[in-house]
Amino acid sequence: MTTRELYSSIGVSGYEHQQCWRKDGVFHLRMAAPGSCYRCPQCGNRDVIRRGTVDRVVHAPPIGMERTQLFIKVPRLECRRCKRVLNAVLPNVVPLCNYTKSLGRLVVDLRKMMTIRDVARYVGVSDTMIRSIDKKYLQKNFCKPRLRDLEIIAIDEIYVGKKHKFFTIVIDWTTGAIVFVGEGKGEKALKPFWKRLRGSRARIKAVATDMASAYYSAVLKNIPNAKHVFDRFHIVKLMNDKLTQLRRDLQREADQMGRNVLKGLRWLLLKHNADLDEKKNERARLMDALGLNQSLMIAYYLKEDLGQIWQQSNKLAAGVFLADWCARARASGIRVLQTMANTLEGHRTGILNWYDFPISTGRLEGINNKIGALQRIAYGYRDHEYFIAKLYALHLAKFALIG
Ligand SMILES: [Zn+2]
Repeated sequence: MTTRELYSSIGVSGYEHQQCWRKDGVFHLRMAAPGSCYRCPQCGNRDVIRRGTVDRVVHAPPIGMERTQLFIKVPRLECRRCKRVLNAVLPNVVPLCNYTKSLGRLVVDLRKMMTIRDVARYVGVSDTMIRSIDKKYLQKNFCKPRLRDLEIIAIDEIYVGKKHKFFTIVIDWTTGAIVFVGEGKGEKALKPFWKRLRGSRARIKAVATDMASAYYSAVLKNIPNAKHVFDRFHIVKLMNDKLTQLRRDLQREADQMGRNVLKGLRWLLLKHNADLDEKKNERARLMDALGLNQSLMIAYYLKEDLGQIWQQSNKLAAGVFLADWCARARASGIRVLQTMANTLEGHRTGILNWYDFPISTGRLEGINNKIGALQRIAYGYRDHEYFIAKLYALHLAKFALIG
């Protein structure tokens, strides 16, 4: 292989070879910068005065099994137009970084299969450099996703640990890709997203969120033509919370015998009736407890019924069912059920919009699990920006899940 071919294979064609030696398992190459770099880095002017050179050490892809370091003489150039002396820009080397573009590409490819530490060991550079290469790549390719074709979105907040607490995440419902990561929660976290969305001129048809009032007003203000669908899983969870609250209230008021019956009932109450385990006698235990307490029984059956809102044949029937459910909840005279009925009535349109767009924030739950895995392998991601860049690339799960 000629020197020229070797240089081209490690991504530094055009450089002038001067010397090579091997030491401690490292391949060293001394070279001079190519003639094409004799121009002003600022204005591109070719009329420059040479003012000596400075040495620079640059990492390149390994040659065979040996890591490779380049020693490059970088010309100092004085531009006759700008009147400034600057270091020449080296072709095929990443600006302001001490690695070649070819090494950057290699690292990005290896990162699809290997951890940061493995890549660092193989290429012979620090973990920090691998991380910075990866981060640069992710930021350039994923952090400004195109929003113009966005039609259906889901918004939810996720908990990311003590330090940053919450992120508000917007996903493209169709692809599952994260299109926005906002810091914190509520209306403020989404502000930059609305701004970018306006700029993109995307036409959002539908959006799924929970019933938080912050989302309600933000959607109404920023995408008034979109159908706002309230996530069914959040609604069911809210009902489960109400049931738990009622059980707790009853337990506090009950005598010793009643307390024993109610004890350990929590999970049975929240389980779907169809999921009750006959072997463990769960149905019988539940029925005993419900028999002792009428309010709990009413609340339990209303909870079981609630899911039927999303099982009607059409929107109209669902509306009738919802009104009926709320009437029954009110008639029960139980306070927690009455507040639940008020909440549902207040969000009626958004609940029934599900029949136009059967969407939910459920996809975000899956993302939540992936984020958990991501944080575990990456020791909590001390680099905040890197973590956010990783989130944007999360839909390429295999890639993103390598620490
Ligand atoms: Zn110049």
